[in-house]
Amino acid sequence: MNPHWNGQFSCYDLVAKCDSQPRHVVRVGDVAIGDGGLTMMAGPCAVETESQVLRTAEFLAARGVRILRGGAYKPRSSPYAFQGLGIDGLKILAKARRETGMAIVTEVMSETDVEQIAEYADILQVGARSMENFSLLERLGTCGRAVLLKRGMSATLSDLLKSAQCIASFGNPDIILCERGIRSFDTATRNVFDVAAVPVLKAVCRLPVIVDPSHAAGVRSLVPILARAAVVVGADGLLVEVHPQPEAALCDGDQSLTLPQFEAMMSDLRAYAAIRPALDATIPVVQGAALEC
Ligand code: PEP
Ligand code: MN
Repeated sequence: MNPHWNGQFSCYDLVAKCDSQPRHVVRVGDVAIGDGGLTMMAGPCAVETESQVLRTAEFLAARGVRILRGGAYKPRSSPYAFQGLGIDGLKILAKARRETGMAIVTEVMSETDVEQIAEYADILQVGARSMENFSLLERLGTCGRAVLLKRGMSATLSDLLKSAQCIASFGNPDIILCERGIRSFDTATRNVFDVAAVPVLKAVCRLPVIVDPSHAAGVRSLVPILARAAVVVGADGLLVEVHPQPEAALCDGDQSLTLPQFEAMMSDLRAYAAIRPALDATIPVVQGAALEC
């Protein structure tokens, strides 16, 4: 339980932007996230086989991607869907890290798995469904790894910042926020990419903000254009699902880019990524009560 429950601190002061700390750069090995550049994180939704992961990782690493994503523990809406390979999946990710030098980001669903996953991963991902799993957030405060905190599908930005504060309040300042789309009445896309979340979060918060266009779009054809939008509103990075054979994927194949599609997206993004550092100077001042505690 948080020892500061009696309200002597404000609800997200540990992650808020302030004059003395306008930004917190999260360092993972020699990758700096939130330093003004654009950090790409990519890979399959789920770890399925060694060859699937190694082939994807080698392709991505050869194109300059430094962080490999892949879920070994999958929070599936249906209990009958593929649940991930667990520890065997972590071992495959570790092999990809050894062979390519890429850092690994992978999801953790339970506080009881944190220690084990932290042995294999460089960044621990909290999925949308776990954003308010406070026992997990508390444990991540002492895990010794960076945390990628996804916005819950029905969470306000204030809720997201309070979850980040929870992790920070237990001692871990290395948090990356991720907008991945929110639920709405409109089912044309899987989730609605809240474009404004990026400048709002960057205006009030010192943490890096990345966007996951894959879970927002739900279909691969929309992923590159949402990625482009994310970059021009100031995202510090992108988390993108890529699969060597999306039609055979065990999870999220419809929204996974093929390897050539990923390469095409990267070349489209190059021009936008080049102006990315200059965008930080254009972050608006956001006024209003929306983010009050
Ligand atoms: C994922 O990254 O594969 C995932 C499950 O995402 P989210 O938690 O955003 O649904
Ligand atoms: Mn997925």
